[in-house]
Amino acid sequence: MPHNKKMDLSREDLRKHNRGRLLKLIATGMSLSRSDLAANMGLTKTAITHIANEMIELGYVEEAGKEESSRPGRKNIGLDISEKAPKSVGLLIMRDYIRAVLCDMKLNILKDVSVYREWADKEELTGEILSAVRKVLPEGTRLGGIGVASIGPIDTKEGVIKKPLFFHGIQDVHVGELLEEEFEVPVFCDNDNQSAALAEHLFGNARGYEDVLMVGMGRGVGSGIIIHGERFSGHDGYAPEIGHVSIDKDGPMCTCGRRGCLETYVNSTTNMRNMRDASGRELKFKEYCRLSSELPPLDAVFLDIVEKLSVGILNLVNLLNPEVVILGHGAVDCPDRYFKLLEDNIHERKFSNKDKRTLVLKPFFGKDAHVLGGACNVISRYFNGELL
Ligand SMILES: [Zn+2]
Repeated sequence: MPHNKKMDLSREDLRKHNRGRLLKLIATGMSLSRSDLAANMGLTKTAITHIANEMIELGYVEEAGKEESSRPGRKNIGLDISEKAPKSVGLLIMRDYIRAVLCDMKLNILKDVSVYREWADKEELTGEILSAVRKVLPEGTRLGGIGVASIGPIDTKEGVIKKPLFFHGIQDVHVGELLEEEFEVPVFCDNDNQSAALAEHLFGNARGYEDVLMVGMGRGVGSGIIIHGERFSGHDGYAPEIGHVSIDKDGPMCTCGRRGCLETYVNSTTNMRNMRDASGRELKFKEYCRLSSELPPLDAVFLDIVEKLSVGILNLVNLLNPEVVILGHGAVDCPDRYFKLLEDNIHERKFSNKDKRTLVLKPFFGKDAHVLGGACNVISRYFNGELL
């Protein structure tokens, strides 16, 4: 009977959806008591008790915390994520390193392995990927899934790293299939900055905001977008690329074939060269950051980067009107005053809603945001009910 089947399916979907919401509120620390959960989810306390009991039974949630009331017979015990709950692996794949972490559902890192290398070829890379994931998986781990956060372009639907620039000629890495076959768990692949946006949105500095723009500064400039509280996803799953938004049609030629793309001006190679020339010293980026307040020519290089970023980011701010912009990867070491200046520029020059500032923040998770984003590619599937 098709009608009843449909009814059953939607009831099952609703059940998963509610279980996922409960898990998210507990894991992200937004609600820990049954009454908080009832208020947040718009359900009765009886309904919450029912869902919580199911989740305790399934090993996701456990009773925890103190009694909230001293009145006899009215104990209100909080809830927490169970130690038995499934764990997730986050795997970050970059041009010259990979990093794997094992996380619990509250995004605590339980194991952490990094391998730094200029990859010789695809075989070496995939061999190290499998070995790094094995190393973060203690015997008997209840593994829910593996989430990949990779440099792009990446086909997120097929789990294939296509043909990144400066990736030692490596292309078409079927990382999703590779991990699924080896570890027999669901694998979710995404661009590194999309993944970091998710981590910041669920657990970090963008928590509680619906519309978020993540910008990652490195060899190139990448981006991730959360819109209406959901990961932005085009029809084919490719990530938004702010690095290839032009800020000058007559500007320098970009590797993509256009002129004046943001990342032709703002990339780690050019930045480091300009900083070396301005200071007359060969230093690490962190040291240039520290010296920038003492050396005016060096300060000028930073101010120029802020100006270029302001123009590029404003293009997206005027299109999407995000509440918060998170600037990550290499940018996490930059002095706060440049973040403030970027925020002021955006506020003064944006077209709409002048009453509300678009915040510009560092990632709460700093340089861990991207690998944790990998883990969030799995954890978010628990929160939306897909893996429950
Ligand atoms: Zn370009």
